[in-house]
Amino acid sequence: FPRREADALSLSVIGTGYLGATHAVCMALLGHSVVGIDVDENKIRSLASGTLPFYEPELQELLRRMLESGRLSFSTDFSAAAGADIHFLCVGTPQMPDSPAADLRFLDAALARLAPHLDRACLVAGKSTVPIGTAERLAAFLRSSSPAGDQAELVWNPEFLREGHAVEDTLHPDRLVFGVASEWARDRLAACYAPVIADGTPVVETDPATAELVKAAANSFLATKISYINAMAEICEATGADVNQLATALSYDNRIGGRFLKPGLGFGGGCLPKDIRAFTHRAKELGVGQAVGFLQEVDAINQRRRQRTVDLITEMACGDLAGVHVTVLGAAFKPDSDDIRDAPALDVARMLHQAGAKVTVFDPKAMDNARRAYPDLAYADTLEAAVTGAEIVALLTEWDVFRRADPAALGALVQRRNIVDGRHALDAEAYRAAGWDYRALGAPSKL
Ligand code: NAD
Repeated sequence: FPRREADALSLSVIGTGYLGATHAVCMALLGHSVVGIDVDENKIRSLASGTLPFYEPELQELLRRMLESGRLSFSTDFSAAAGADIHFLCVGTPQMPDSPAADLRFLDAALARLAPHLDRACLVAGKSTVPIGTAERLAAFLRSSSPAGDQAELVWNPEFLREGHAVEDTLHPDRLVFGVASEWARDRLAACYAPVIADGTPVVETDPATAELVKAAANSFLATKISYINAMAEICEATGADVNQLATALSYDNRIGGRFLKPGLGFGGGCLPKDIRAFTHRAKELGVGQAVGFLQEVDAINQRRRQRTVDLITEMACGDLAGVHVTVLGAAFKPDSDDIRDAPALDVARMLHQAGAKVTVFDPKAMDNARRAYPDLAYADTLEAAVTGAEIVALLTEWDVFRRADPAALGALVQRRNIVDGRHALDAEAYRAAGWDYRALGAPSKL
């Protein structure tokens, strides 16, 4: 935790999902007085009573502590935000239902509800991920629709936290980006994050448009790195080379680095897929679509990994999945989260089910969300129950509990010792020694 508290500011956080709830709790931890506001009454009721409505390591305990401190409260009433020094916009910006563009209706609606309550000098700080140009448009709206007029200043302060590490990433981010148009705005944001900055976090001060672009560019780079190694996995599959060893060899090159160079089933979640699509769409609108044309390929490579995983499982089933008992380990889009938005594991489970397999899913935290989204799949309550009687086990989200499982003990429960490691997360040799037919994407099978 930061070494010192900030001089207390009054803050509002609009939108209390994965990002907003984390931000609200962490800002209270820094010493500020924070109200979290959302239109979802159930979410607000849950947060106000001290129950985090999603899973995120450490956050549940901190939520309780901050509510007890009296510095944190939650409301569905936007008038509770009146008088705050900074209003953080953290609402969702999902993909449009019928186009690759970002859906900004929630953001627009949130600002429209907030603006009438802004009657004194304050900052409105956008944290949501948005297409470049959004801040400029919202700033014009804010000037014309809030009683504070020019004194309500719009800034962009994009967020880079990772689910599963959200608290750590908020308190110790790699960098803070302040997209500001005045020294006053810069100083106020710096006062808000003072303990984080005092801990050595670099601050990049820039204009709002560049700040918006930093987020789109960062996510595009990360997605590209993942798809790059997965493209190499396709080559490996055609040649008998081993992508895991290739990635290891590449990672020793400091110019390349090993992070985000893990081959496997690819990325999903509520950010990377929709962010690269929205970025591509926005670039086309701006007449520079060619500049990021490669992102469509990044997306396509990523989607192909899902089909390839289904193909590998089908190969193990000798070409016919009908009636085959496949256990899918993992549902969340990544470990240490219960978020199933665009989760590769569930997408593969759905495809297997459609092909006639009898699919049983187990995930340590995402079961409720998965059951709601995919009621047709079967679910087991424990890892052991999930694999019992399986003809093929597919590890698709690399939770630690799956990594640590004993191959011999699992082997005693299954009907056949067939495993597809969709994340290169398991010790292949240990599984083979325990009599499993172990296969992984981009790695030659050894019988
Ligand atoms: P989320 O869906 O978990 O939360 C969004 C919240 O906004 C919901 O609780 C929803 O009820 C609320 N909301 C919708 N309309 C509203 C309105 N008019 N007024 C008030 N609240 C409203 O989404 P999230 O994952 O927290 O993402 C939020 C934003 O942060 C997105 O732009 C996302 O791209 C960005 N982001 C997310 C992460 C992450 O890891 N989740 C990381 C960085 C950036």
